[in-house]
Amino acid sequence: MRPLDAKFNAIDGSSAAAYLAGSLAGIDSLEGRIAEIARAITGTIAFSTSLGLEDQAILHAVAETGAAVDIFTLDTGRHFPETLDTLAQSEQRYRLRIRFLAPAAEDLERLVARDGVGGFRLSVEARKACCDVRKVRPLERGLKSAAAWITGLRRGQSSGRALVPFAEWDAEHGLIKLNPIADWSVGQLEAYIAANDVPVNPLHARGFPSIGCQPCTRAIRPGEDIRAGRWWWENEDGKECGLHKRPAALAGAQA
Ligand code: SF4
Repeated sequence: MRPLDAKFNAIDGSSAAAYLAGSLAGIDSLEGRIAEIARAITGTIAFSTSLGLEDQAILHAVAETGAAVDIFTLDTGRHFPETLDTLAQSEQRYRLRIRFLAPAAEDLERLVARDGVGGFRLSVEARKACCDVRKVRPLERGLKSAAAWITGLRRGQSSGRALVPFAEWDAEHGLIKLNPIADWSVGQLEAYIAANDVPVNPLHARGFPSIGCQPCTRAIRPGEDIRAGRWWWENEDGKECGLHKRPAALAGAQA
């Protein structure tokens, strides 16, 4: 397959995604999958990291392969101090810079003026408005010129992610969305982290398998779903921040 151009339409993008979904499935190692992505795509490859276990594994593989990837995280302004420490430690370990994308000041001021600093607890709509300003819009800015977007989504993370493919055309962002550890179990992930001594957020060892903003994340109890500590005051259905919307057909299939 010829390398993909930075700009392609939905038909080319869909067929390229289908090709990559097949080729990634045939490669065992994460480093091999990252190398295949870098080989196939000539435009900007973006990697949005939350500094969670999945993204730390991918960060390690990106650094190992030396793939040219634009790595960024979303500065929500509400991170745990441990998350920021993990970011600094990762930059030092891998000798790279992780771009820090902040919300637009005017958006944030308007949101807080309307809902208050803790307004995300008022309603699901208010919570989604906060995620929109602090996460979704900065993400859109980060992906604006990207041809492809690497994420750490895994099928085992939640029922809503059970059908995550290795690659798909993301019509909303006009790029190929790549999930190179879609098929990994949590056991595989932990083994990779341990084998490579990957720096991880110390909160994971304190009952936080999934870490988001401080006021919206709690430790989970034994037996709880790994994402039960995210927005725990809401119903289980649709507990996403809007960064990873699923196509309507798939969303229906998961219901
Ligand atoms: S996770 Fe909570 S604090 Fe962070 S952006 Fe979403 S609602 Fe706001």
